[in-house]
Amino acid sequence: MYNYNTDQLQELDLKHYLHPFTNYKKLAEEGSRIITRAEGIYLWDSDGNRYLDAMAGLWCVNVGYGRPEIADAVSEQIRELPFYNSFFKTANPPAVELSRLVCSLAPAHMNHVFFTGSGSEANDTVVRMVRHYWASEGQPDRKVIISRENAYHGSTVAAASLGGMKPMHAQGGLPIPDIEHIGQPYWYQEGGDLTPEAFGEKIADELEEKILALGANKVAAFIAEPIQGAGGVIIPPSTYWPRIQEICARYDVLIVADEVICGFGRTGKWFGCDYFDIKADLMPIAKGLSSGYLPIGGVLVSDRVATGLIEKGGEFNHGFTYSGHPVAAAAAIANLNILMDEGIVDRVDKVIGPYTAEKWQPLTEHPLVGEARIIGLIGAIELVKDKDTRQFFADRGEVGTICRDICIENGLVMRAVEDTMIMSPPLCISEGEIDDLVGLLTRCLDLTAEKVL
Ligand SMILES: *Cc1c(COP(=O)(O)O)cnc(C)c1O
Repeated sequence: MYNYNTDQLQELDLKHYLHPFTNYKKLAEEGSRIITRAEGIYLWDSDGNRYLDAMAGLWCVNVGYGRPEIADAVSEQIRELPFYNSFFKTANPPAVELSRLVCSLAPAHMNHVFFTGSGSEANDTVVRMVRHYWASEGQPDRKVIISRENAYHGSTVAAASLGGMKPMHAQGGLPIPDIEHIGQPYWYQEGGDLTPEAFGEKIADELEEKILALGANKVAAFIAEPIQGAGGVIIPPSTYWPRIQEICARYDVLIVADEVICGFGRTGKWFGCDYFDIKADLMPIAKGLSSGYLPIGGVLVSDRVATGLIEKGGEFNHGFTYSGHPVAAAAAIANLNILMDEGIVDRVDKVIGPYTAEKWQPLTEHPLVGEARIIGLIGAIELVKDKDTRQFFADRGEVGTICRDICIENGLVMRAVEDTMIMSPPLCISEGEIDDLVGLLTRCLDLTAEKVL
């Protein structure tokens, strides 16, 4: 398709295409890698090179590439009804069915969903929905949303404000007002001499300090990813979420669990909230909802919040042209049916997750690796200078970038967050493919060590 060779594609790309999260000058020097097709867990570029995609696209292709069931569902729906909106008292069958299906998979107290086109839009919806909810409840001063440093909640103005990425805030005057940030539960980097458990409680207690400093009657919600994804697959200590929930309950602060990565099987449970036993009031979803085949996201809403909105909220002056898009919804339904019919989530929990963990943990024996952590099929390794003192290399991010580039040269797509190498492969990955992934990674770690040690 599109009758261009690699050189022509790269040239046109440079001429016209501004990529997301890209340094344009650097891209111009190096040129783009053009991905042309994919199957299962593998990608191919325009020169015919094959890559094992250990990132599932961008944490989203949970069922793997090339699923004919989704292609068929999309093709059928696009012929039947390619678009209609859900404004003005209308709905369409795929959007209705998807709302039923998603709520049937969600925790029992979540029975409503608001659809969006992406995870960022889901988090924008969260900002407006929690403030509207509290105003409807007669507490319009509850506006502040507390988030965490180094969180990722998307890239629109509100979502990037909720996020705690400094380089994002530095562009465009963010965060917007009434968004506050506390520390992250990143024991490996910031735990010092504390045990992970003690550190988890200490960081969670920052939430209480922040609530008290602001005044509890000003705080609408706390938002967090059950496991921080883009921040570096940061798995919180076991003490963290129980303490956070205690604090939110004490001050009646809503809990927003951003399930955009953790949702739909990544942890071996349907949602990160199921894994960590979090009772959330709102759960933004996207990515694995459609395995990325078409763009769709949403916000799952608890009975408490939904009842408030329905009974006291009046009109919710918010929505997107593509909210409940029938074709995207059809793709999501087909995707969820694959996850259910093939028992993929349970297999992550009981079979392939434990198998992967068994291969992942021994990576700590490598001279570069200070820690290897994993839950389900989301994992990370820390590349460090000194394992005993958990000391990173002086030029933070350099070794990670070297390792990431070596991985790609060797046909393995992984991501580096500074010096943390992260992976999040398709959930349909086989035991043999996990062996290939870990084997390739080990070789790339050796090559990295040759360069930097
Ligand atoms: C990717 C991501 C988002 C943003 O989703 P988009 O579809 O890219 O807008 C939000 N939250 C988390 C946790 C994410 O990983």
